[in-house]
Amino acid sequence: MAKQIRIVEVGLRDGLQNEKQELSVAQKVMLVDKLVRSGSRFMEIGAFVSPKWVPQMADTEAVVKEVLANKNYKTVEFSALVPNEVGMQKALLCKAPEVSVFTAVSDTFTEKNINCSVDESFKRFEPVLKLAKKNKIKVRGYLSTAFVCPYEGLIDPKKTLKVCERLLELGVYEVSVADTIGVANPKQVETLVKKLTTKFPKKKIAMHFHDTRGMALANIVKCLEQGITTFDASIGGLGGCPYAKGAAGNVATEDVVNMLHEMGYSTGIDLNDLVKTAKWLQSIFTRSLSSKLSKIID
Ligand SMILES: [Zn+2]
Repeated sequence: MAKQIRIVEVGLRDGLQNEKQELSVAQKVMLVDKLVRSGSRFMEIGAFVSPKWVPQMADTEAVVKEVLANKNYKTVEFSALVPNEVGMQKALLCKAPEVSVFTAVSDTFTEKNINCSVDESFKRFEPVLKLAKKNKIKVRGYLSTAFVCPYEGLIDPKKTLKVCERLLELGVYEVSVADTIGVANPKQVETLVKKLTTKFPKKKIAMHFHDTRGMALANIVKCLEQGITTFDASIGGLGGCPYAKGAAGNVATEDVVNMLHEMGYSTGIDLNDLVKTAKWLQSIFTRSLSSKLSKIID
């Protein structure tokens, strides 16, 4: 039997929050529907953050409510990002079944992004995790700048391992280890993932790549070789990189799924339907999305 790989679709959150063009609630809900029909089973669909900071996520409540009300989506695991207790309260009101929290290895990055140090970000998570436990909600952790920080440069793997451990100790079921600005190379990925999988159970580590310099697929192959089975991806390659103008966004889901299927892995996703979804997305987007596959398949 083909080895099963779990794809976490993050286009509606990490992708859209880095796009200039905003989608309407109806467009977002339609995108979710197309992704579900393509076989996506794990999806982050918004962020309960201040609309002042991230206007693209201002309608998360409406999107989450509408999506969760659809009985056809029973087998899909939806989640939303929450930055703090206020966000968690909003997630609870919407009955979000899963949430995710976000921190980074580098203090300069968290200071510039969420106005606090890494330590302080953990203090903000404590009430989130408490509420999650009380309400039986799963929590996923994002670990940004795991390889390189746009301000501090190369990150020492020891530091990444330490923050990863803190997240797991806090009670997240999985850490999504992110190459936030998309500059990690396969050699670096091999080194860090080897250390991560030696120290932590493989099942607790997911990998999150951006395709800024076109190295995302090569990096994923390195992770597969180390036994990683969960990857984040973004339909159409939605997203961007605020530190590299005009850069490609997150690695495109359809490009990842295509590579995995070609390599003999299974994802539960129908590639043709996924490509159709990416093409539909491109039809409503004014910028050219970075997906490779959807440009060459009819
Ligand atoms: Zn990302």
